[in-house]
Amino acid sequence: MSKVLIIGAGGVGSVVAHKCAQASHVFTDIMLASRTKSKCDAIAASIGGNKIKTAAVDADNVPELVALIKDFQPAMVINVALPYQDLTIMDACLETGVHYLDTANYEPKDVAKFEYSWQWAYREKFEKAGLMALLGCGFDPGVSGIFTAHALKHHFDEIHYLDIIDCNAGDHGKAFATNFNPEINIREITQNGRYWQKGEWIETQPLEIHQPINYPNIGDKESYLLYHEELESLVINIPHLKRARFWMTFSQNYITHLRVLENVGMTGIKPIKFQGMDIVPLEFLKAVLPEPSSLGEGYKGETSIGCQIKGLKDGQEKTYYIWNNCDHAACYKEVGAQAVSYTTGVPAMLGAMMMLTGEWMKPGVYNVEEFNPDPFLSLLGEYGLPWHEKVNVPLAFNDYNL
Ligand code: NDP
Repeated sequence: MSKVLIIGAGGVGSVVAHKCAQASHVFTDIMLASRTKSKCDAIAASIGGNKIKTAAVDADNVPELVALIKDFQPAMVINVALPYQDLTIMDACLETGVHYLDTANYEPKDVAKFEYSWQWAYREKFEKAGLMALLGCGFDPGVSGIFTAHALKHHFDEIHYLDIIDCNAGDHGKAFATNFNPEINIREITQNGRYWQKGEWIETQPLEIHQPINYPNIGDKESYLLYHEELESLVINIPHLKRARFWMTFSQNYITHLRVLENVGMTGIKPIKFQGMDIVPLEFLKAVLPEPSSLGEGYKGETSIGCQIKGLKDGQEKTYYIWNNCDHAACYKEVGAQAVSYTTGVPAMLGAMMMLTGEWMKPGVYNVEEFNPDPFLSLLGEYGLPWHEKVNVPLAFNDYNL
């Protein structure tokens, strides 16, 4: 019997609201609040049955958040607004005594910098308040860490090599669009790449390292090495790692558009003067690109996201692949969303369920791989994301001799 407040009525927020409504035995009372209330109302109407209350909130404003939380009195907040709001929402949760969950780490608006330090700095405050904050509980970050924890618990004594690979083989029919918030997505892709090797971070130029990787039921796709935030917590929480990398596929069409936009300065995050006003080019670009929540209709194909792992079990070398494939059209049919929103929203709802049912409840600030993966993975398929595993498979890479 728990009340939950979802903040952010975009592509992911819509899926979280639908999925919480489907799990009404846990989420007995649901409110969706966002900057634009009409977007919350449209999502509530699509769910129907007066299951979702709605409200307007500016999540950059702590007093506004505190007033809303005090009024609704949820047990926890699921933050699926933007990473810029993580700290203000955490502050409001501390002030009102409610638990917190998000799917993306805090980023300051004026620097494209992805790290947990700002949120990990809240550990003591959450512990002292007897509250829990669960960070990065989408698919990647999120299920990628839970898959790794499952591999360590059930398949390996030591994990030496971890490659998280994220493939979207879908086609939304648009010339150029991003599958989650364009501003956050483009900031992530245009920064330097980084991976962990032999105890240190190796930095690369943006999209410098790439190679074709074969994905289950999808085939060969060009995959680019990116820095991704879950690497930061996994290299701390998974012992014996010699190397950890993250790969994402992009079509040549996407890369060409991105390069042109970068070359003409449209991905910049520093304000420029335009007709006497300060505008941030990337914010303007976001305004002209399709919203992630609008991409679902007609989206064809699948995503395939998983972890390829090599390590030791009982003194023997072992390889392992664990993954989920998710079909865009099936997601649209079920909840009116594309698969990238869906694969983020389902784990966010399930993480909240883990917290509210006590499976994953302890005061402090945590990343998902710090918890028992079993109860989460036992429900992931039931809520729409079936997963698969294969032992002693040929892996996508051949450089395992560190
Ligand atoms: P969208 O842009 O579709 O949605 C973001 C929503 O947040 C919008 O409704 C927006 O309101 C709202 N919002 C923005 N600023 C504020 C504010 N100050 N106060 C209140 N509401 C605000 O993005 P997505 O749904 O695609 O992504 C949501 C989050 O999920 C992002 O943080 C993204 O990084 C994360 N994500 C995580 C993934 C994972 O696997 N871990 C994968 C994909 C996304 P408005 O409509 O008025 O602009």
